[in-house]
Amino acid sequence: MIFTKALEYEDIRKNLDKDNDVITMIGCETCVRVAGSGGQERMKDLALKLRSDGYNVKDGFMVPTACTPKIFLAKIARNVNTIVSLACEAGSANLERSYPEYKLVQTIKDVGLMVADTDKKVLKVTLPYQVSDNEVGREFKLFTGERNENDNSLPIMEMAGVTGVAK
Ligand code: SF4
Repeated sequence: MIFTKALEYEDIRKNLDKDNDVITMIGCETCVRVAGSGGQERMKDLALKLRSDGYNVKDGFMVPTACTPKIFLAKIARNVNTIVSLACEAGSANLERSYPEYKLVQTIKDVGLMVADTDKKVLKVTLPYQVSDNEVGREFKLFTGERNENDNSLPIMEMAGVTGVAK
């Protein structure tokens, strides 16, 4: 699974046009929900905030995985011209490919690969992408993305043996 972080509200807003964008939101229900950067609640919060700031948010859809052809489960209304994506960068790229006639605005950035333990309610960054190298071994709380109290809940050594990257 991919660990991700939500972009700051201002970084999302600056890519939207109050006068011209008619918006639908599409969210992925998998990795980004587990990482707390996406999911139905975040979509609702973001939609309400954008609407209260005067943006024309029409509706929103959750799809099981935004990185597969199932993305076409989302039926977009006729007058919509902008998709706000609550998916990782792979999911957003798939959205862009699947709906090339729409403007696409991302709300989430990728950090790297993670493992998750639902019993301990914690996830751990195991193989970050190059720009997020400093995140290796860090732990976050499941479904909220808040920083865990420590980084020792989940082992990382087996992963280090396979990848040679984790320390
Ligand atoms: S689109 Fe991204 S967040 Fe959603 S399932 Fe695929 S890899 Fe995970």
